[in-house]
This record gives sequence, structure tokens and C-alpha cells, in this order.
Amino acid sequence: MSLATLNRQQHELAKAASQVEILDDNESIGIPTFKEKLEPIGLFPLKPTGVDIFQINVGKMCNQVCKHCHVDAGPDRKEIMTRETMQQILDTIRGTDVQTVDLTGGAPEMNPDFRWFVEEISAMGKSVIVRCNLTIIVANPKYNDLPEFYKKHKIQVVSSLPYFAARRTDAQRGEGVFEKSIKALKMLNEVGYGMPDTGLKLDLVYNPSGAFLPGDQMELQAEFKSKLRELYDIEFNELYAITNLPISRFLDYLRNTDNYEDYMHELVNAFNPAAAAGVMCRNTISVSWDGYLYDCDFNQMLDMKLENTATHISEFDWNTVNDRPIRISQHCFGCTAGAGSSCGGATT
Ligand code: SF4
Ligand code: SF4
Repeated sequence: MSLATLNRQQHELAKAASQVEILDDNESIGIPTFKEKLEPIGLFPLKPTGVDIFQINVGKMCNQVCKHCHVDAGPDRKEIMTRETMQQILDTIRGTDVQTVDLTGGAPEMNPDFRWFVEEISAMGKSVIVRCNLTIIVANPKYNDLPEFYKKHKIQVVSSLPYFAARRTDAQRGEGVFEKSIKALKMLNEVGYGMPDTGLKLDLVYNPSGAFLPGDQMELQAEFKSKLRELYDIEFNELYAITNLPISRFLDYLRNTDNYEDYMHELVNAFNPAAAAGVMCRNTISVSWDGYLYDCDFNQMLDMKLENTATHISEFDWNTVNDRPIRISQHCFGCTAGAGSSCGGATT
């Protein structure tokens, strides 16, 4: 597996423009555009249904360098959201209909203002989701109390675990990641996460290890539940099966393994109109570490900022944001294949 980020390798795909150029060239691989699939079902231009969720990428720094990371996160990434930008977000969402703030990264806990930010959001009565990579909890003693901190603020913890065995997990996320993840899951269970009647929600994210679509979410959930219980005495709530989108390190993987063309055809062939109607960008706003605004975390990585409205949190405009056209490209086929895919798993 790759141990260095694309950024560190000074790889051409570290640049958003290079990725967009590859994705935009649909003709040479003989697939329709995403727009051509939306038009006949009345979904173009794709419009928001409201803003229920603010998803905040608080920085690209991470203690892991996973093979398929769409953020190209890693220990060498220094992009970190400042408290000033966090304050602008708090000022924007205070008193609004935004129900949920979804914190992602990198490893969001590595941002030095992470705990302050969570406390401020919680004090507003909004729900907080943290996309925790698990290993951060055991990476350093200063993070060992994270389960207690999450519990105190009733945070929903969402964590990737590609498989219930070491070999497949480590192949995708790095040597030793599975063992540390199991240890962290036990620590979360110990404070009540994933346990019946605690209200402390612990969800897992499964994504395929190669160039194929995820299997049925309910079947995977049942399999993960029984194996993790039987082998490690671990409990969790829901499993989200998500599709790998063809951007950043997964795009690099697809090209290196000569799978890009076939994978794009597979996504297009599995286009599901119901999933298209339920894509997460319709009720979400994504904010980058430097305060810019996007329709989703994937558009953020491709530097496709919001259209026909303000593009920075300091100028957020509720009137125009709800009427903007959502920016789409060929990577969007990843959200509409099969049962659909979002940060909350299947959408249909
Ligand atoms: S833990 Fe998450 S953010 Fe970090 S490298 Fe892996 S996929 Fe990327
Ligand atoms: S990639 Fe982003 S913009 Fe495209 S459909 Fe998915 S959530 Fe929407």
C-alpha cells in the first residue's frame, strides 16, 4: 500500500484540476455525462431541498494514510481549520434549521480546537457527528479520553472498518490498524457506545477493498454484527455501506490497476434514479478547512465551490444557497449506483 499522500509524492492527481480533467473526459471511455442521466428524470439542474446538515472538514491532517482516502489525508498535511473560521460557522448556523453538524477530516480530533468547537455546537442544541478513524483514540495518551468526551456531548460516532479481520482492513488502512481499531471499539463499548438503551450511537462504515460496488447493506450489517460479537465481543449500531468515488487516492488506485474505465462503466450501468433523487448534497453544505463552501466533501476535494451564491462562510447567504444549482460531474455516478451512497450509507 501507498505510505505517502499524493501531496507528498507531488503526484499529478494531488491537483484537483488534474482529477477533473480525467473525470470530464467521458467520451474517450464511452460513457454518458451525469447531466445526461439526470435530464430525462427531471433532476437537472439538481437543486437543494434545504440545509439540514453542515459537514465540516476541520483539516486534512491524519494519523493514517489509507489507500482509498478521497481527502488525500495524512500526517504530512498541515491544512487545519482555525478557531476564527469555526466561529464564523457557529455564527452562521446559530438559530437556523441546521439540525446536525458532521465533523470530518483527516482525523478531526487532531485539530487543536476540536473539543472547543464540539462544546460550542452542543451548547446550541445541535447534534454532532464525528467521523472518527478509531486508531486516533489509542494513538497517543492525550486522545485516550475521547470516548468519555464523545459521551459527555452525546456525539454520534461514525467509524470506518472495512472488514472484521486484520488482513483486509490493514491492506486498505495500514499495518496494525485493525488491532488498534478493535481496541478503540472496546473502549467505546465500555463507556456505553453501541450498547442497548444508552442512546450512544456507534456506526461503522464499510467500503469495498477494490474496484467493485458494495454488497447489500443489511446483509453486510448482519455479517459484521455477528462476527464482531462472536470474535471480539464488540457491539455497534448500524453499518453504512458506501461506494468508493473515483477521486484522489482511489482514482489513483483505479488508474494504477487499469480499472478506471471498467469501474466508471459499472457505476453508470448501476445508475439508480431513486438514489439520484436522494443524493446527500440536496440537504447538506460542506465547509473546507479554510472556510470555503461546497455541495459535498467530494466536490470540496475537486475544488468545485458553490455556484450562484457566496463561496465563503464569512459571506454565507441563506437566500441564494437554497436556490443554487448543485455542481455535478462524473464522480457523482458514485452516489447514484445501486442502492445509492452517502455519508450515511445507502440512500434507497
Ligand atoms: S483515516 Fe480517514 S481521513 Fe485518514 S487517511 Fe484514512 S480515510 Fe483518509
Ligand atoms: S458527488 Fe457530491 S455533488 Fe455529486 S451527487 Fe454526490 S453528493 Fe451530490
